[in-house]
Amino acid sequence: MRNVLEISHPLIQHKLALLRDKNTEPKEFRELVEELSMLLAYEVFRDLPVMEVEIETPLAKTLAKMVDGKRIAIFPILRAGLIMANGILRLIPNALVGHLGIYRDSNTLAPVPYYHKFPEKLEEKECIVLDPMLATGGSAAYAVDILKKQGALNIKFVCIIAAPEGINTLYQAHPDVCIYTASIDQHLNDHGYIVPGLGDAGDRLFGTK
Ligand code: URA
Repeated sequence: MRNVLEISHPLIQHKLALLRDKNTEPKEFRELVEELSMLLAYEVFRDLPVMEVEIETPLAKTLAKMVDGKRIAIFPILRAGLIMANGILRLIPNALVGHLGIYRDSNTLAPVPYYHKFPEKLEEKECIVLDPMLATGGSAAYAVDILKKQGALNIKFVCIIAAPEGINTLYQAHPDVCIYTASIDQHLNDHGYIVPGLGDAGDRLFGTK
């Protein structure tokens, strides 16, 4: 599909295999989510504008190219997106961070908002929504709705695993939003979990089950 980039680099596949393994404990699971987010960022930020700055090497003055981190705003969907944000911030420490508190109602699977906080002037920013699992796509589409209402014009969605159902939902609601993922999995089960997936990302990240 036009708006999805499945980034299947061998390093990404290797780390994803470790992440999926049910025996991977929260400490390693968090490290893997951070590392995978950094590896995905390589593609997500491929077209980022750079600014020329003059620097001085030990030998000479020269013009070098740098990224203006303040043009980037990342939006982790709480809570699992927070660990992805850590990975991106290791690469782009000056990126601005907004927070999107949305949970899935366990019966209806519908998104329920409970907290939002945004940087200013979103229309000037490259906005990146982060959630490890794109499952039904309800929270993702809702998150993009919110950002567009706040003025965001340029939005990307980054996840680690996507279900075809979630990709379709997000595409139908927001065809302008490009999705970056390490894997497009098979399908959702009756409880809204991605198969084969990795289970509940939030619980595995934070050891809550
Ligand atoms: N959220 C998760 O954490 N895992 C899934 O498989 C689907 C949604």
